Amino acid sequence: MASEIQSPKQKSYDVVIIGGAMYGSSVAWWTGRNPDFDGSILVVERDPTYEFTSTSHTNSCIRQQFSNEVNIRISQFGAEFIKNFRSFFDNDERVPEIVLQSYGYMYLADNDEFAQTLKESQETQQKLGSGTKHMSAAEIKEAYPFYNMDDILVGNHNLIDEGYFDGNTIFDWWKRSAREHGAEYIHNEVTAMGMNGDGTKVDTVTLQSGDVVSCGKVVNCAGPRAVVVSRMAGIEIPVEPRKRYTYIFDAEQPLDRDLPLTIDPIGVHMRTDGQYYLAGCPMSIGGAEDIAPDYDDFEQDHSLWEQHVWPIIATRVPQFEAIKLVNSWAGHYAFNTLDQNAIIGPHSKVENFIFVNGFSGHGFQQSPAMGRGVSEFITYGEYRTIDLSAFGYERIEKGEKFVEKAVI
Ligand SMILES: Cc1cc2nc3c(=O)[nH]c(=O)nc-3n(C[C@H](O)[C@H](O)[C@H](O)COP(=O)(O)OP(=O)(O)OC[C@H]3O[C@@H](n4cnc5c(N)ncnc54)[C@H](O)[C@@H]3O)c2cc1C
Repeated sequence: MASEIQSPKQKSYDVVIIGGAMYGSSVAWWTGRNPDFDGSILVVERDPTYEFTSTSHTNSCIRQQFSNEVNIRISQFGAEFIKNFRSFFDNDERVPEIVLQSYGYMYLADNDEFAQTLKESQETQQKLGSGTKHMSAAEIKEAYPFYNMDDILVGNHNLIDEGYFDGNTIFDWWKRSAREHGAEYIHNEVTAMGMNGDGTKVDTVTLQSGDVVSCGKVVNCAGPRAVVVSRMAGIEIPVEPRKRYTYIFDAEQPLDRDLPLTIDPIGVHMRTDGQYYLAGCPMSIGGAEDIAPDYDDFEQDHSLWEQHVWPIIATRVPQFEAIKLVNSWAGHYAFNTLDQNAIIGPHSKVENFIFVNGFSGHGFQQSPAMGRGVSEFITYGEYRTIDLSAFGYERIEKGEKFVEKAVI
C-alpha cells in the first residue's frame, strides 16, 4: 500500500530530484556521499511502491557489446561497480556482494550488412579491452549445439562482464544509503515549476500537496514521464513511453548449458533466468506499430506469445517446442525517439534543469556511470571521470543523433 503524501521538511533545497527509482537514487547516492558536496537533496517520488516504473519491469542485463566507445566505457564501469559492489559502500558489512552472471549476449546476423556491423563493433570493443569474439555460424553451433543456425551467417559473443546482475539490490542500497547520507525522500508528485523572470532558471517546484519548494538545481529522473516533467519548465524532449513485453517460461527439457542473452534477428531476445528462461520483445513483434502507449497502460496482448514469440523462440532453439509460460509482464521504456540513447546534463537555456532521461533499453546497466557523472556535474559543474558530454541536450536541439548501432 502506498504511504500518505508527505510534505518536505525544508522550504528550500540545493538539489531537487524528480523521481526516486534507479536513476533518482543513483544520482542522490553518488551526490550525497561525495565529501565535496555539502548541500541538501530532496527526492520526490510520486509512487514509492515503484510498481509501474521501468526499474520494476527491467530485465537487468549488462553488455559490453556497444558500437560507441563512450557506451562501452560506461558498461566497463558498470561491470566494475557490480563486481566490487560492497567496496563502493566502504566495505559496509550490511551490504551484500553481487554476482555478475556472465553468460554473455549472443548477437546473431542473418545478412551481410549486419554481419559487417558486428565485425566492426567487435573490433571497437576489443580495442577497448572487452572480450567479444566474432564467431562463424559453425563456431557458435559448436559452443551452443542447441541453436538452429540455418539462417545465421555470424555472431558476436562475449563471456566477460556481460549477462545478468541483481539490479534491485543496487537500487535498494542506493536508496537506503542515500538517505543515510542525508537525502530526504518524500512521497509526493511534482506538478509544476516556477521560473525566474527571463525563463533561464527553475526557481521553485510545486508539489501535489501544494507545497512550493525553492531549488538550486532540479534533476529530471522521471523515466517514461520525462517529457511531462520537462514541459513544466517549457522544455520539449523526444522521450516517450514504449511498451516492451517480458515472458518467463519453463522448458520441458532444459538446455544442458546457459542460454546466452540471444538477440534473434527477428526481434525477440531470450536468456537463461535461473531455473527458467526469459524472453523479451517490443509490442511491434506481431506487426503492430511501436507507438507510445498511455502512461498508465500496462495491458498485455496475450495473443503475441502464442502467435509470434513462442514460434520464434522454438525456431531458434528447437528444444523450446515444449515450454510452459509461467509469468509475463508489460513494462515501459523511456524511449528516446531521436537516437535511443540517454539525454544527460543541463538544458542549454534553463541551466539549472538537468536531464537524466531517455535510456531506452539500456538504462539499468548505465546507472552506475551515469549517476556518478551527473553527480560530478552537480558538484563540480563538469564531468570528471567519463566525459558524458556526447549525451548532452545540444544534440537534441540540433537534431544530431548519438550514433549507437547496438540498440535492443
Ligand atoms: C521491459 C524492460 C526491460 C529492460 N531491460 C533492461 C536491461 O536488461 N538492461 C538495462 O540496462 N536496462 C533495461 N531496461 C531499462 C531500465 O530498466 C531503465 O532504463 C531504468 O530502470 C530507468 O530508470 P529510471 O529511474 O530512469 O526510470 P523509472 O524506473 O521509470 O523511474 C522514474 C520514476 O519517476 C517517478 N516520477 C515520474 N514523474 C514524477 C513526478 N512528476 N513527480 C515525482 N515522481 C515522478 C516515477 O514514479 C518513477 O518512480 C529495461 C526496461 C524495461 C521496461
